[in-house]
Amino acid sequence: MIDLRSDTVTRPDPTMRDAIAEAEVGDDVYGEDPTVNELETRAADILGTDAALYCPSGTMANQVAIDVWTEPGQELLLEAASHIYRYELGGAARHAGVQTRPVDGRPRGVLPPARIEEHLTEQALHVAGTGLVALENTHNNYGGRAIEPAAIAGAAEVAHEAGVPVHLDGARLWNAAAAQHIAPATFVDHVDSVMVSLSKGLGAPVGSILAGPRGFIDEARRSRKGFGGGMRQAGVLAAAGLVGLDRRQSVRADHERASRLAEGMTAIDGLDVVHPETNIVVADLDPVVADAEAWLATGEDIGILGTDVGPQTLRYVTHRDVDDDAIETAVERLNEVRGRFD
Ligand SMILES: *Cc1c(COP(=O)(O)O)cnc(C)c1O
Repeated sequence: MIDLRSDTVTRPDPTMRDAIAEAEVGDDVYGEDPTVNELETRAADILGTDAALYCPSGTMANQVAIDVWTEPGQELLLEAASHIYRYELGGAARHAGVQTRPVDGRPRGVLPPARIEEHLTEQALHVAGTGLVALENTHNNYGGRAIEPAAIAGAAEVAHEAGVPVHLDGARLWNAAAAQHIAPATFVDHVDSVMVSLSKGLGAPVGSILAGPRGFIDEARRSRKGFGGGMRQAGVLAAAGLVGLDRRQSVRADHERASRLAEGMTAIDGLDVVHPETNIVVADLDPVVADAEAWLATGEDIGILGTDVGPQTLRYVTHRDVDDDAIETAVERLNEVRGRFD
């Protein structure tokens, strides 16, 4: 089975498992796990922030950021197809008591400064006021679009002018950085906090990093505890994260494979493939051929897994557990899927 549902399906390889076996550990709730401490220091260093916090998931790290930056009743301004809006179960309302203001980011998934300005609200007798702006890079639902630092800077500038902090959901920031040949910190310079995943392209089994200023991270540590995310001997997991951080350039190989996969898919009649900037291949499927659900079910029979991001939209994600040969096989199998609908 070739599993291209997500880069989250990556499994820890032998190097990671060795690091896990050898990890020094302590009680991280007491701040005594040396491996977690090392991971947090190293992540902050790479991201160019004062401090960082190891979280069980990207979702929790995003939710902690929202909780810390906002007051209940405020608004969270974010892109309408963003992960925080679409796939976090209304967490902003549940956990932080904030209402979301989704803003259409078409065509690129990035909110132009003018559009942010238009939707920022200032607190008044009848007006909640914007408490936080959240951005996403790479943008998952826009096919892993790598948004350039200047666009992040432009968006952040209007928010900051209004006194509103900016959080960057950078689950795949490594991919954005690799695609644009720049350091991850270049994006983070413009925002107030960032979340990055260790459990996607980097291949660690568990975990994400929330990074930002020292005072923010101190509060985030308390918030994470409130979410039930205080972990004890988490060094066994953090050890894998450290291996992941060292290999963050390796996602480039995933981008090349996505490119090759996209080329192969372009030749398939009925697929309208968006050329990938990173590791996510999105394709519109001609309804005359099939709908996405039927396509994917047939794929599963033949031995290739993907996901649908719309009734006629397919998504295939490359990752370190799918090598060059597997990509060739993937293209063959997708052709076979197409053949079943003739
Ligand atoms: C995967 C993802 C998350 C959530 O990370 P989990 O570790 O799965 O909770 C958040 N934002 C984006 C853009 C993602 O792709």
